Amino acid sequence: MAKKYVVYIDGKDLATFPVVQTESGVYYGKTASGPYYKPLLKDFDDATLPTGYKKYTRGSHYEHRNNPKRNPIDFSIISGKVITTNFDIKVISYATSRGPWIKCNIIGTPYMVAFVHIYRQPKIGATIKAGSPICTIAPKSVTGLATHLHIDEWTGFSIRKLILDGDFMLNTGKNVEMLETMNVRNSSFKIIGTARKSSVCSVRSYYKKNNGFDYYKVAFGDRECYLADTNFNKVTTKPVTNLDGSKPDTCEDKVIELGKEIEALESIVGTQKIKIAQWESQVLGMDAENEKLRKYEEYYLDLGKVLEVKKV
Ligand SMILES: [Zn+2]
Repeated sequence: MAKKYVVYIDGKDLATFPVVQTESGVYYGKTASGPYYKPLLKDFDDATLPTGYKKYTRGSHYEHRNNPKRNPIDFSIISGKVITTNFDIKVISYATSRGPWIKCNIIGTPYMVAFVHIYRQPKIGATIKAGSPICTIAPKSVTGLATHLHIDEWTGFSIRKLILDGDFMLNTGKNVEMLETMNVRNSSFKIIGTARKSSVCSVRSYYKKNNGFDYYKVAFGDRECYLADTNFNKVTTKPVTNLDGSKPDTCEDKVIELGKEIEALESIVGTQKIKIAQWESQVLGMDAENEKLRKYEEYYLDLGKVLEVKKV
């Protein structure tokens, strides 16, 4: 399925650029200050490190690890590359702290995407149409840092989801498939069951952040519950299932089932109608007999009267 929202760097999907650092400050290096190993975002968490490289967890994003409104990812991109998107944006703010940045609203949504360590930016309030240049990756002479793009969403949604899946789960009404068996929880985050691998639920709404994960209220065929947005699930076009992956009873199934019941009842009613008709014809026959008997009775009564008269 085509991604709904795509960020491009010189026309190439941002998801195809190497990642330097994750949301919580994880990065890979020969030493803490480099050289770095930079896998693609989709491979980053499970990357097999080349010999001599180690995992570090206290990058500059470490300070954001408990902030639900900061989930930045650093992409390794050389300066001069132009950022465009396949959606319209409005520039909400601009500042130069820690390297110039702009905050942009995806028009028609609540999403606020921030592009950081950029320059040649548009004015605050400007609307940039899909496909038009938004800004440019800034050189070290502007930022004082090795050139890279720090991209984030500043209202609490996962920029990772946007880049990998082309959408945030929230309010999309999209279906989400479990890539592994996952716990499902109640609104207090207490585990109340498991969603089997390959089961599919429908996203109702964003709930809240807990333990670093975004939780969503979701509906499986047989249960409403709360589910963490992790690498163990992804947006899908597959239909909703029960928690165990089985097909839920849908309205259509119910209609078919009831239709069969009606058919069965109709055939019973039909048999009974035939019986009633038989009884009715018997009753009619009996009526005719009764009429005959009544006539005989009348006849004999009259005959009796005649005989009575003759005796006199
Ligand atoms: Zn960064």
